[in-house]
Amino acid sequence: MKKLHIKTYGCQMNVFDSDRMQDLMTAVGYETTDEAKDADMVIINTCHIREKASEKLFSDLGRLRPFKDEKKQSGSEMIVAVAGCVAQAEGEEIFKRSKVVDIIVGPESYQTLPDLVGKVLRDKKRQINLDFTPNDKFDLLPESSAGTGASAFVTVQEGCDKFCTFCVVPYTRGSEYSREEKKIYDDALRLADKGVKEIYLLGQNVNAYHGLDEKGQSSSLAKLIEKIATIPQIERIRYTTSHPRDMSDDLILAHTNIKKLMPFLHLPIQSGSNNILKAMNRKHSRQDYFKIIENLRKARPDMGLSSDFIVGFPTETDEDFEQTMDLVRQVGFTQCYSFKYSPRPGTPAADAKMQVAEDIKDARLAKLQKLLTEQQITFNKKFNNAQMPVLFEREAPKSARYNGEKIQLWGKSPWLQSVIVEVGDENEAQKYLGKIAQVKILHARPSSLVGEII
Ligand code: SAM
Ligand code: SF4
Repeated sequence: MKKLHIKTYGCQMNVFDSDRMQDLMTAVGYETTDEAKDADMVIINTCHIREKASEKLFSDLGRLRPFKDEKKQSGSEMIVAVAGCVAQAEGEEIFKRSKVVDIIVGPESYQTLPDLVGKVLRDKKRQINLDFTPNDKFDLLPESSAGTGASAFVTVQEGCDKFCTFCVVPYTRGSEYSREEKKIYDDALRLADKGVKEIYLLGQNVNAYHGLDEKGQSSSLAKLIEKIATIPQIERIRYTTSHPRDMSDDLILAHTNIKKLMPFLHLPIQSGSNNILKAMNRKHSRQDYFKIIENLRKARPDMGLSSDFIVGFPTETDEDFEQTMDLVRQVGFTQCYSFKYSPRPGTPAADAKMQVAEDIKDARLAKLQKLLTEQQITFNKKFNNAQMPVLFEREAPKSARYNGEKIQLWGKSPWLQSVIVEVGDENEAQKYLGKIAQVKILHARPSSLVGEII
């Protein structure tokens, strides 16, 4: 077996893509290694969403150079592939800047990777494929051969037609494409047979899903979830990332009717100010967001909510920022992601005149993050002494154990909190791994809960 090392940056879609690239390469005789140094092939799966993405890539490539040289001296080869959104955005430029790279492949064309590797080895020529063919991609990907855990991602939708003025996704991932319902259902069924208990439906705009059903009619995310919920072994269903504009009534109602749908939603708003939302081309207002949250909480009173925020978007005033703080206070989130606005070349906002100074962005981000952390702690503390079902995903590595030598298991609560429990021995660990068990929470930490299995 040859050795493959993959380094992944960015979102869950990239994690999914890296797993599929691993499947593709396993099928042609590669096994994974954690060490880039030993690898016969290295894939860097890149993210272009914020700046420094290409700097990170080129410093990674710089570190690979001596390894690649060493391999050559010992008479073998190291193939280096750059995949993902930086590959799509920068293309041939990457070849010009780094001699180390053999393959450049985009997020919609990586199904051709084994073929590209064959050509590099045979023809001794660098290869590039940046085609947009999501349809072919899903048809050509092999079934997952890697060991599957308790929870698995299934991509249902890719790309985006919304063109928020700050975002590169419509340019790097192409226009919106939904997979057929039957194909997604078959993937879920196959994963269930392998022991998966939780399906995570993925898409850049997952709730815009409109794939064809078996009658050839346009389906919806709510209908898709309903279908997957009929698979007895699947006990939990989640979906991410949703857009407020596509938060339809039937999807909100699904949170009442489908018990397997977890009471947690990641629903990015980006800003609490209508002026900024307009400048971002989000096509929803803060009032629309409040209404959705109200309906979601009616549908599922224990709903946990998370969001993405951008601070320091061009033209953002102190007053606009205060609107964001106010929205956060009114909604009350469980955990969130927040970022400083980062101008992305080629997007409309990057050329806007009134860019916000870096020190103002820093101060706003610190203030927002302080509030979000307080809300996360408050949310977690609510669970002190409470009982909840936890899906146990893996054993904590020795180095991460919080308390001496006892074996610890890591799991997820229905609200996506990390839950840690101690077990007596390896037999007991195996009994719970990959399964859902009832846990009593003993201690709430800022970003995790410590409990005991009942
Ligand atoms: N489709 C999702 C939505 O509409 O909210 C989000 C997808 S994007 C891959 C993930 C997050 O990255 C966004 O929600 C946004 O907060 C952040 N992001 C995207 N572009 C950014 C930029 N130029 N600067 C800072 N953050 C950005
Ligand atoms: Fe980017 Fe906006 Fe599309 Fe989300 S909806 S992927 S933020 S353009």
